[in-house]
Amino acid sequence: MSSDGLPPLRDVIDRYDLRAKKSLGQNFLTDLNLTQKIARAAGNIKDAVIYEVGPGPGALTRGLLMQGAQKIIAVEMDHRCILALNEIASAYDNKVKVIEGDALDVDEAALIGDTNGKDIHVVANLPYNVGTALLVKWMTVENWLPWFKSLTLMFQKEVGERIVAKPKSKAYGRLSVLCQYRADPRILFDIPRQAFIPPPKVTSCIVQITPKEQPANAPDQKILERVVSVAFNQRRKMLRASLKGLGIDPAIILASANIKETARAEELSVEDFCRLALEYQENK
Ligand code: SAM
Repeated sequence: MSSDGLPPLRDVIDRYDLRAKKSLGQNFLTDLNLTQKIARAAGNIKDAVIYEVGPGPGALTRGLLMQGAQKIIAVEMDHRCILALNEIASAYDNKVKVIEGDALDVDEAALIGDTNGKDIHVVANLPYNVGTALLVKWMTVENWLPWFKSLTLMFQKEVGERIVAKPKSKAYGRLSVLCQYRADPRILFDIPRQAFIPPPKVTSCIVQITPKEQPANAPDQKILERVVSVAFNQRRKMLRASLKGLGIDPAIILASANIKETARAEELSVEDFCRLALEYQENK
């Protein structure tokens, strides 16, 4: 038995025949000390609702419960994992609600429903593609502040570095601006490859993203997204060329935003992008 009275994760994986599927990007954690560390990093989980995406055999779910989580809503796409997860739910007095489905299709606010004033924290260890797609989905919701108080997510180290990257670095790009415009992202700690079954090719890290209030003059989210993606689409070109993709004369908005025509996307701060987006909003 493990310290939570449930069978060790390796036994669960064997018993339910949860051989990792590449197509679902499965690399499973088995160390409950490590998953409790992630749970502690997620903040005040005792008095919150946790939305966990991709629980798999349940290592992180169990870590969260051991750290006192009272309510977890978990969405998992792999049918094989559902029985293992239901076993955890029974052991913990149904504090865990398991839903089989694709997290990309979930309307989170509707799924989670009334939280009786409790905060919602998102915790997930997801495959790279889905993780980035979900992050973009969550960071681009229309209403800000959003339905979650924090995101505590595992990514490949390289993706984590893109999220927190500062201007004039190679890693700085669309994901950096998208996350830093509305939130404060930080890398909390690394997770070595050996912590997983099977080990992935690269080191992972835990990133925490805490939404922040928007200033009154913040640009429209969709407009900012468009300007940022057009600018980084040709990141080596000067903005006077790359911004032609916006369908207006870049010189006009660059001048009013007080940005050099010869600058490149990676040199602009998040504030520069916001000013540029506001000018585009007015001139398009
Ligand atoms: N959280 C577990 C852990 O740390 O051991 C599993 C992590 S594994 C990297 C990713 C999990 O996400 C798998 O269980 C996989 O089946 C699930 N998954 C993949 N795509 C998904 C999606 N679109 N929606 C929900 N779950 C998904």
